[in-house]
Amino acid sequence: MTSPIARRAAAGAIVLAAALAACGTKAPISGIDVQGMDKSVAPGDDFNAYANGGWAKATPIPADKPAYGIFTMLADQTRQRLLDLLQNSAKAGAGASGDTRKIGDYYSTYMDEAGIEQKGMAPLKAELDAIAAVADRHALARAVGGQLRADVDALNDTNFDTPNLFGIWVTQGLTDPTHTYPYVLQGGLGMPDRDYYLSPSAHMADLRKQYQAHIEAMFQLAGFDDPAGRAARVFGIETKIAQVHATRVESEDVHTPVSWTRAELIAKAPGLDWPVLLEASGLQDAPVLIVWHPKAIPGLSALAASEPLDAWKDWLAYHTVERASPLLPKAFVDAHFQFYGKALSGTPEQRPRWQRAMDSTSFALGEAVGKLYVERYFPAATKAKVQAMVADLVKAFGKRIDALTWMSPETKVKAKQKLQTLKVGVGYPDKWQDYSGLEVVKGDALGNAERADLFEYRRQLAKLQQPIDRGEWWMTPQTVNAVNLPLQNALNFPAAILQPPYFDANADTAHNYGAIGAIIGHEISHSFDDQGSQFDADGRMANWWTKDDFAHFQAAGEALAKQFDGYKPFPDLAVNGHQTLSENIADVAGLLAAYDAYRLSLGGHTDVAKEGFEGDQRFFISFGQSWREKIRDEELRRQIATDGHAPAQYRADTVRNLDPWYEAFQVHAPEKLYLTPAQRVRVW
Ligand SMILES: [Zn+2]
Repeated sequence: MTSPIARRAAAGAIVLAAALAACGTKAPISGIDVQGMDKSVAPGDDFNAYANGGWAKATPIPADKPAYGIFTMLADQTRQRLLDLLQNSAKAGAGASGDTRKIGDYYSTYMDEAGIEQKGMAPLKAELDAIAAVADRHALARAVGGQLRADVDALNDTNFDTPNLFGIWVTQGLTDPTHTYPYVLQGGLGMPDRDYYLSPSAHMADLRKQYQAHIEAMFQLAGFDDPAGRAARVFGIETKIAQVHATRVESEDVHTPVSWTRAELIAKAPGLDWPVLLEASGLQDAPVLIVWHPKAIPGLSALAASEPLDAWKDWLAYHTVERASPLLPKAFVDAHFQFYGKALSGTPEQRPRWQRAMDSTSFALGEAVGKLYVERYFPAATKAKVQAMVADLVKAFGKRIDALTWMSPETKVKAKQKLQTLKVGVGYPDKWQDYSGLEVVKGDALGNAERADLFEYRRQLAKLQQPIDRGEWWMTPQTVNAVNLPLQNALNFPAAILQPPYFDANADTAHNYGAIGAIIGHEISHSFDDQGSQFDADGRMANWWTKDDFAHFQAAGEALAKQFDGYKPFPDLAVNGHQTLSENIADVAGLLAAYDAYRLSLGGHTDVAKEGFEGDQRFFISFGQSWREKIRDEELRRQIATDGHAPAQYRADTVRNLDPWYEAFQVHAPEKLYLTPAQRVRVW
């Protein structure tokens, strides 16, 4: 999927884990971190180790993190800056603006552990009582519908994960860019993917045991009788849900979704009381819904009728407690971390509470927090420089299209048209969101989070009645990431990624092109990856290719998928080349465009050597360092199962597809990364 440059901590974007020169220190003259390299490794054997091995040896993963790298460091720095801004604005007291006061109240209420402890389970009582009162299948549909939120994103952020029975996403129609539709996605699992329930591997079997024990512990803490019996029922339902779920690779197929009228949904997915569910979820007026998973949605609906009502009530109760657990007393917070942090990601310790509070505030009041950040940390001059760099990259990509020997003139015209109408957002949106309708109550931490989720869901649903906004943003400015939006033919580069080491207005050109240049190129290329290439200049899913051109493109993609299938970080687990194909295409094409733009910027001159490295070498080292990351085994397994991005080390190694890399480092057979010219994948 097009998605962000990196995912997760989050999802599909370029989680640019690039940690170029240690953050916070002054960038050396070359912009690359020479100390962090391991020059004892031949670049042609293991480019990631060559670029990052010194750093990797000297840097442990902090105990409270599942992975650590440039991306994480910048996220930490951004959080710290936001905390400082918050504390300063708190000093402004009554003089603070409405939004700033809400941000402060949200944060301080989250931090009030004593107050939360004292309330115990009281904040959840009404919700759990309502579930206990569910007496028939109509009431079940109402409860399921009432929990739905805008919590997934099939094409931008490529986030398919929701514990609610369905995930909702609201945006332009796949084949109708002039209207907004609700998309319905599969959901209902507490573990990250169907594989966790169904895979025969010993690792997954062990996690299943731990998960069932965790469900039991949550019921116990919440004071339910028969916690073991309830946990078995919840786990049983989720295993059946997993059996009807599409795989991660199937979820990426943009040709699978169907448009169903309300009547078609009722007829084709019998089981649930859909009219009641749609009413409870606020979707009662939508004449057509886009069903992303046309096999799984009927499967889930059938389970809603066939599984015992009491089992569904346990399932609802468990997820209600789980979702609330970070804002309940410490015993819940710890139990939540024990499974979701320790077991699933291998993280030994929980992050400090202030970081969790800041992330929650940043999520709840996203653009209000972003506005504070941008005012302080994103000067107009930076915006202008990045815009100029984007224009360079677009130009370089256009030249690359012109020069393709395999593409017909007709297809080239369409590709150029798509490139020329690409709408690029840099730093922050043109128009900020209005939070005046969001109520933040001091002392009500859980209520604040729930109201914020509902506020966002209603904002998304309101789009169904509004004209299309191609300038809509899907990431907050304080997010260290970037994203391509295929349905809007647009890109978002949030302010927080437009800083060193990715981008430094004063740094070496080779460095900037290898780091942020490759990221910009990556996002532009998503418009032309295996998925993006199926959307035209208006964001409409349409085939604008000649048959021969598309066949050539697909063959190149297959070769790249095969290359990544060959990466095996564990004896029992390989990278999935098809699941990560879009991202891998974008990496190769983006790096090529960034390299071209770098060469163009030299105007025919040769770059001078710095710190013992020629310009081309610095370009590739900066790229390799931009993927700097260490990751725990459990987290790596989770990423391989659920993420559209390949693990960072293999993204760094994708330099092996570029001819200039071979020249820059004199790479030859039989070095491990060596590919014959015919094996190197050139998609664009
Ligand atoms: Zn991407």
